Amino acid sequence: MIITRPRDWERIEDNLASIGARSVFIMGCGQCATVAHTGGETEVAEVAARLEALGLEVTGWTVGEVTCHLGGTKLESRKHGGDIEAADAVLVLACGAGVQTVADSVTKPVFPGLESLFLGNVIRNGIFEERCLMCGECVLDKTAGICPVTTCPKGLLNGPCGGMWEGMCEVLTDRECTHVRIRRRLTEQHRAGKGTLAPKDFSKTLKPGGVNIRGHGDSR
Ligand code: SF4
Ligand code: SF4
Repeated sequence: MIITRPRDWERIEDNLASIGARSVFIMGCGQCATVAHTGGETEVAEVAARLEALGLEVTGWTVGEVTCHLGGTKLESRKHGGDIEAADAVLVLACGAGVQTVADSVTKPVFPGLESLFLGNVIRNGIFEERCLMCGECVLDKTAGICPVTTCPKGLLNGPCGGMWEGMCEVLTDRECTHVRIRRRLTEQHRAGKGTLAPKDFSKTLKPGGVNIRGHGDSR
């Protein structure tokens, strides 16, 4: 899921002030931002109260089912068309993809209410870790299911680096070195000694990405 955190409140205030907004519609997201406790019903209600305390009118709010889904967000926007029309701006408590989807669905100025951080694993409720950078050329088959691209702070495919000390990471000193973990798991699975990984092909991560499973695979 996409991990988000609340945007600095001063930036939200500045954004609204930049267009002289006196009224706001708020849209959250029922998926990642709800799980991250940044854009679900509770957080939307908190932001609404905060805006009202500033003297702004909240014309309405909703938590879309999947805010980055264009069709669903257009439908949600139509359902709340009157409240959105009555607002000077729409504040979106979703990841950057969701904010852009809302911006494509309404005619009012749209502002982000969150900062998008990373694709994260949910370790347990409220604890998230980055485990995949979506490099487009996965090496987990060769690294015993531990991603060196993401979990080694230097992104080294082959390691450990010269800074590893007694099995611990030079950069994140409270963590075991990724390559020590990889080597141990490969050894436990009798898969060690399979050589080094080839350099990555960074053309696989050219932006913006796009996939069209209705057509020829890549919509870029
Ligand atoms: S190698 Fe790492 S970054 Fe690349 S796809 Fe696999 S898990 Fe994600
Ligand atoms: S100690 Fe290991 S995990 Fe840390 S930067 Fe070096 S190779 Fe990467």
